[in-house]
Amino acid sequence: MDELFNIRWNSKRPDVPRSAVKKPIKTLHYLTIEFLPGRTLKNTLFNLGWHDIFAQALKQKGIDINKIFDVEADAGLGNGGMGRLAACFMDSLATLNYPATAHCIKYDYGLFQQRIIDGQQAEFLDEWQNTGGAWLTARPDEAVTVRFHGNVGSYKGPDGNLKFNYEGCQEVEAFPFDMMLSGYDSHIVSNLKLWSAKSKSSAKRVNYGEYSNRVNEAKEIEDISSVLYPSIEQASGRTLRFKQQYFLVSASMQNVINVHLHKGRDINDLSSFVAIHINDTHPTMCVPELMRILMDEHSFSWDDAWNTITKCVSYTNHTVMAEALEVWDADLVMRVVPRIYQIISEIDRRFREYLTKLKKEPKIIEHMAIISNNSVRMANLAIHASHKINGVSKVHSQILKERLFKHFAEIYPDRFINVTNGITHRRWLAECNPRLTEFITKLIGGDLCKDAQAMEELCRFLDDTNSIKKINEIKLENKKDFAEWLKIHQGITINPESRFDVLVKRIHEYKRQLLNVLRIIYLYNELKNNPKADILPQTFIFAGKAASNYIMAKRIIKLINQVAAEIEKDKVISKIIKVVFVENYSVTIAEKLMPATEVSQQISLAGQEASGTGNMKAVMNGALMMCTYDGANAEIAHLRCNDGTFTFGLSPFEVERTWRDGYNPIDIYNSNKDIVGVIDALNNGFNGESFKDIASYLLNTCTNKDNYMCLADFEEFIEAHKKMDALYRKPLEWGKVVMRNISKMGYFSADRAILDYVKNVWHLTKLK
Ligand SMILES: *Cc1c(COP(=O)(O)O)cnc(C)c1O
Repeated sequence: MDELFNIRWNSKRPDVPRSAVKKPIKTLHYLTIEFLPGRTLKNTLFNLGWHDIFAQALKQKGIDINKIFDVEADAGLGNGGMGRLAACFMDSLATLNYPATAHCIKYDYGLFQQRIIDGQQAEFLDEWQNTGGAWLTARPDEAVTVRFHGNVGSYKGPDGNLKFNYEGCQEVEAFPFDMMLSGYDSHIVSNLKLWSAKSKSSAKRVNYGEYSNRVNEAKEIEDISSVLYPSIEQASGRTLRFKQQYFLVSASMQNVINVHLHKGRDINDLSSFVAIHINDTHPTMCVPELMRILMDEHSFSWDDAWNTITKCVSYTNHTVMAEALEVWDADLVMRVVPRIYQIISEIDRRFREYLTKLKKEPKIIEHMAIISNNSVRMANLAIHASHKINGVSKVHSQILKERLFKHFAEIYPDRFINVTNGITHRRWLAECNPRLTEFITKLIGGDLCKDAQAMEELCRFLDDTNSIKKINEIKLENKKDFAEWLKIHQGITINPESRFDVLVKRIHEYKRQLLNVLRIIYLYNELKNNPKADILPQTFIFAGKAASNYIMAKRIIKLINQVAAEIEKDKVISKIIKVVFVENYSVTIAEKLMPATEVSQQISLAGQEASGTGNMKAVMNGALMMCTYDGANAEIAHLRCNDGTFTFGLSPFEVERTWRDGYNPIDIYNSNKDIVGVIDALNNGFNGESFKDIASYLLNTCTNKDNYMCLADFEEFIEAHKKMDALYRKPLEWGKVVMRNISKMGYFSADRAILDYVKNVWHLTKLK
């Protein structure tokens, strides 16, 4: 243990001398309904440069450090990519010394824990705070009150301005917990502020009947920070989700203002000190909430408040799917946050007036309006209030500008920009894949963690056979590690000598796990017809959670598992292909899978995946992608000079045209005997269960149809795999392409994305 005590625990950093700070320090406030940090202990030790010392010291005591890491819960305060992006960004901000706070909700329960029971998804409560709570510091000094419901009255104040008072409100205490997020070899940390809802217990004496009412009300209030995305099937659920959103923005905006004033800064200078970022539409109400605070509490005029806010606020759009562009019933907004509704109405009135002045047609005005048809459109509000709006990959940003928000781009052309997503290559390469990292560092020198773009240097070794062989050896070692882990955790044996073909992400129709299953069924048919068919030994690995009310996604999980079971029953075929479903996909599981991935499936219907970040993780860890022209896939493919890319399927433009001209799966079915075989197999079923429902879903053209056109891309998908297989049979050539890809991946570090945001959107102050 000696090394442990040689560390200077209290290596105090000198404070920045006050006199040196002349310019305002501009800080980022990143508002996000999801945050997916994963585990923190290993990351923190790594960032401090202490990981190896601790590992050695524990080893001397006979303790495996990984066993300790495994005790920590994986904080799952998010669904997937968007929440993970927020976490990657906080890591990069701290590493690059930019001050930032992320605001999210301290959900009592994280995203459910998933088990597979009888081939089906089963959901269990995720009590992440039992161990994950260790990182939280309560901040009672920063608690604020959030008000819901009630009536708004107005009166003329002593200064002659209109003042507002609230009667009969439900008062909720927003109580924050801070979690410090370390950066790599950095002098600062990012802060994650997690807000929890508490009832404000009143000291007033009540009788028994009232008492139980109080208890019920307290429970109702605490439900606000209970779960992520409460179900919105019922009205009560919609109210709860909406309250959750207002709760987050009201608490965080009050906090921003309180901290600003507490530091002795002038409220009129707000925009010099704070950048506020709306991560997807959920926190859009920060705009009317800030209007309320500035006008009602600090006597700003409408114009001064609006000018201040629009200098602070920016917005990232994360999806083009219509159902994800939030719209709330105007009645709901009016009932739950009456004063906010007044403000939104006034924003809408002025915006319509502005559009009328621009001589926009009434139809277009209605389309762009914030309140229309008795509903409030969050994206329109976010765009109208933000000085910058960005998409998360080139293709996606182009779709926003030219299609989805075309009319807005006409009136606000300078606001629309692109910032392609990135991942922190520290967690997603250096920490999770030490073998590869050590090898790269040996070749190129320097500190990869500080400079991802230095990987470009790998190009110099592309003709060095020994290096390529080493890359392939590392992959094999990583596959063996994963196989061993899977054996221990799920009792499944897989062959590390087979190719690992991996599709891991949320289960969603647009991501097309189904298309991959169709391909596996096709290969199974080929092998049944001819057990000697020349098919590569492969292990098909799936992982991902289906939303608990998403019937089709759950059906797809069942299909994957029944196909897996059916193949397993065949002694001969199961030696060649095998399907596994890894339970409980999460950051921790992803960290184990990425280093072992050889083929990464990124096969969403083009135009649907805004960026994707799983694609970046896989390629950085030495996988080749099988992909459609979607999100960041296109940029990853472009960087590697179109050599060794396996892109297939319709482009976003062709997808649109196909819908316009009519998508006819029956024609495709009739012209392709492989598809006939696959559909027959679905009808006949797997492991004793028929999948007729999925067969007809694929062929339907009216209701209950496949909106993501699996069959349209099937043939090209199979052909692209044949090309990929041919390359795989030549390991040195495969390894060379892998190495060239890795060399180009520095661009997809979150550090680059953050520098883009800082330069083009946030203009933060770099701390010395
Ligand atoms: C990276 C990541 C995602 C996003 O994956 P995509 O393939 O981009 O959808 C989702 N969930 C977890 C746990 C991740 O680590």
